[in-house]
Amino acid sequence: MLDTKNAAQASTAPLPAKFRPSKSVLSHVFGPGALDQLGDLIEPRREDRGPAVFCVDSWFRGRALEKRLPLRSGDRLLWVDSSVEPTTTAVNAFYDQLKAGAAPCVVVGVGGGASLDTAKALSNLLGNGGRAEDYQGWDLLPRPGVHKIGVPTISGTGAETSRTCVMINPANGLKLGMNSDHSIYDQLVLDPELSRTVPHDQYFFTGMDSYVHCLESLRGRHRHAIGDAYSHQSIALCREVFLSQDMMSDRGRESMMVASYLGGCAIANSYVGVVHPFSAGLSVVLGLHHGLANCVVMGAMDEYYPEESREFREMAKRQGVTVPSGVARGLDDAAHERLYRATIIHEKPLANALGPDFKSILTPAKVREIFLRM
Ligand code: NAD
Ligand code: ZN
Repeated sequence: MLDTKNAAQASTAPLPAKFRPSKSVLSHVFGPGALDQLGDLIEPRREDRGPAVFCVDSWFRGRALEKRLPLRSGDRLLWVDSSVEPTTTAVNAFYDQLKAGAAPCVVVGVGGGASLDTAKALSNLLGNGGRAEDYQGWDLLPRPGVHKIGVPTISGTGAETSRTCVMINPANGLKLGMNSDHSIYDQLVLDPELSRTVPHDQYFFTGMDSYVHCLESLRGRHRHAIGDAYSHQSIALCREVFLSQDMMSDRGRESMMVASYLGGCAIANSYVGVVHPFSAGLSVVLGLHHGLANCVVMGAMDEYYPEESREFREMAKRQGVTVPSGVARGLDDAAHERLYRATIIHEKPLANALGPDFKSILTPAKVREIFLRM
């Protein structure tokens, strides 16, 4: 078994060079019905190698999509419980089920950000050994994982194109990703038919993740001309979708899938800002799902992103979505302390948004005030 401690130490630190090479997903198929091509993409990888591993959102258990998965005898189907955000514990448990057998030929993630991230993290562990928490941080994976194919069934997180896979570590309560070029999918199947069954409000909450990623990136200090171009186009598509009469029309679902793809590319060249750290606080301490948590935070962001906060409210109104409020009211001091710690840990995004002295701006009292405004 790989010595992960040494492996992590030997890993490539973020390049000291002025320009960091930027990697993207190399190959994708796009279009209604594209899922039917998944078997063709897996086939050349099988040869004499081990099984194909499918990490699939458990919502699809017993539904039509399950029967369309190109499973062969010996393949492994792992159901991902997306009612909770991925944890290092859950990813380690999947890895422990697989590590004794033949090395898989491919890992396929099918679902929303939770399933896509679980598949990425599992692939990384299969290639590097150790525990998921060893690689939470920046550029800690020395080796690539197993070839991976992403099949998003809901659009917005950009997990299909981003260079991270986010997990909560229950031991320290922190939500962090394996940020690495090795966390980028090798291939994607983008089939807008798959998001037809997403519940209405969930579609809005997840879709807004794309809008939020891109606005945070464009309002940040760490700018990148190509990242900016992705962000502008993704925001334009989000506006088209969420200011339309029916965000879930065929056209809307197709545009949203592209917006999510581009949003993930944008964030791979940039950083998020104030919204995501607060959103992570709500996820870790109060268990709110990522997309919903972002929307709750957007309701309290007039100070930092005034125009976008106004537009966000207009979009929610147009789509008939009510965003919960008062989520942090009635919490005791200990809970606020946990919220503060889970927010302020996100140094890169906060420095991107507010500069290196962000801690003197976001004091514990200020962070509490912002949470109480939600
Ligand atoms: P999700 O995976 O959490 O799923 C949300 C809900 O939608 C679930 O109930 C799921 O069953 C349901 N669902 C998904 N597809 C469906 C379909 N076609 N029909 C019916 N129901 C469907 O969704 P998400 O919002 O895409 O992902 C959130 C996760 O993504 C969080 O864990 C977050 O940390 C992560 N994330 C990752 C990145 C990244 O770059 N890797 C970026 C942002 C968020
Ligand atoms: Zn996000």
